[in-house]
Amino acid sequence: MNRTKSAELFEKAKTYFPGGVNSPVRAFKSVGGTPLFIKKADGSKLWDEDDNEFIDFCYSWGPMILGHNNSKIREKVWEAIQNGTSYGAPTALENELAELILSNNRFIEKIRFVSSGTEAVMSAVRLARGFTGRNKIIKFEGCYHGHVDSLLVKAGSGLITFGNSSSAGVPEGIVNDTIVLPLNRIDLVQKVFHDYPNEIAAIIIEPVPANNGLLQVSPEFLFCLNCNAKKNGALMIFDEVISGFRVGFEGAAGLYQIEPDIVTYGKIIGGGFPVGAYGASKEIMSCVSPDGDVYQAGTLSGNPVAMAAGIAALTECLKPGFYEQLSKKTERLTEAILKHTQNKGYPFRIFRKESIFWLSFASQDVNAADEIDPKGMDKFRILHAYLLDNGVYFGPSGYEVGFISAAHSDADIDYAAQKICEGLDLAYMK
Ligand SMILES: *Cc1c(COP(=O)(O)O)cnc(C)c1O
Repeated sequence: MNRTKSAELFEKAKTYFPGGVNSPVRAFKSVGGTPLFIKKADGSKLWDEDDNEFIDFCYSWGPMILGHNNSKIREKVWEAIQNGTSYGAPTALENELAELILSNNRFIEKIRFVSSGTEAVMSAVRLARGFTGRNKIIKFEGCYHGHVDSLLVKAGSGLITFGNSSSAGVPEGIVNDTIVLPLNRIDLVQKVFHDYPNEIAAIIIEPVPANNGLLQVSPEFLFCLNCNAKKNGALMIFDEVISGFRVGFEGAAGLYQIEPDIVTYGKIIGGGFPVGAYGASKEIMSCVSPDGDVYQAGTLSGNPVAMAAGIAALTECLKPGFYEQLSKKTERLTEAILKHTQNKGYPFRIFRKESIFWLSFASQDVNAADEIDPKGMDKFRILHAYLLDNGVYFGPSGYEVGFISAAHSDADIDYAAQKICEGLDLAYMK
């Protein structure tokens, strides 16, 4: 496969950007080789600058649930863009997207649009602290919440640890208020509330943890977390940047029928444009500026072009059968792969939550980030390289999940399943 142009562009890019990229995982560090520079995309397909064609399962890391270059989104964006691109003043489009979301979501009453998932989470944490007048936050090992300073933490050596910053440039003082716990251990959550009464502002979790493999979290655990938060005067934040509008229109809150206090969104909400959002009850949202004293603002927040894209995308998501159809397709893919790997007796699993899937190169359950065997990543590298050579695009890291879109045809799924099986045969030969 010819990758000359991508290789040239990457060399040039390295002179402009750290690592040649504007977001680290794009650099292909964990699989090796040269990132593909994408020229265009349509439906289920991507084309790189060397005109190689791929069936996409990365989908810009989740936002493109309708597939690429969707005509409904394109038309709505085109309509909006003819009137200008940003006014820094309210628009009817913001109302329209808010109405679409709020009238189809039982868990939030008011919303605020921002420009990324990170910004949504950062604002939600500030809101929780402002609302409760408390500082400490509980987060879980293996959950990713964007590059928010106070959440760039990893667990230390004990079971209950205050954050050790996982990035240079994050002062200790900032992560000192973040308590990191393993997933699925409600006893430890209870202990933290016992040890720090009236100090915990919020518990934040990815209710479908999909940024470190697809970790299995029981609905009972989420339910108990929510009860513990409410019992102790802390807020429950569901970070649904990846699961919102993905595992169902109401995200994991709807899937599990659990009512968090604050929900964050991103990715799908902007139809492929940079949009994030956070929402909560009227009471909690009344703390946000200018109604309340929790300051949060954005020059391009509620950008009309991005709102138009979000409206078009979410309108499609609301059509009857949309999520059932995605789930069925995902099952078609995972069943075909599992049939093969079980026949071969490979130690291998596929974890799936609706239209999110993740390949695990081991036979056991994966309930926590540290249960992912790093040795499996050698197998992923072999699989990833084989798939690229055969026109199937997966995110360039074995810790990343794959996504199914409405644009995948059965033929796409069957072709990809076959290539994945062949790639796994290669990976398990070694
Ligand atoms: C992607 C993601 C974020 C960060 O969103 P950005 O738009 O990349 O800033 C935060 N939380 C979760 C759960 C995510 O999946």
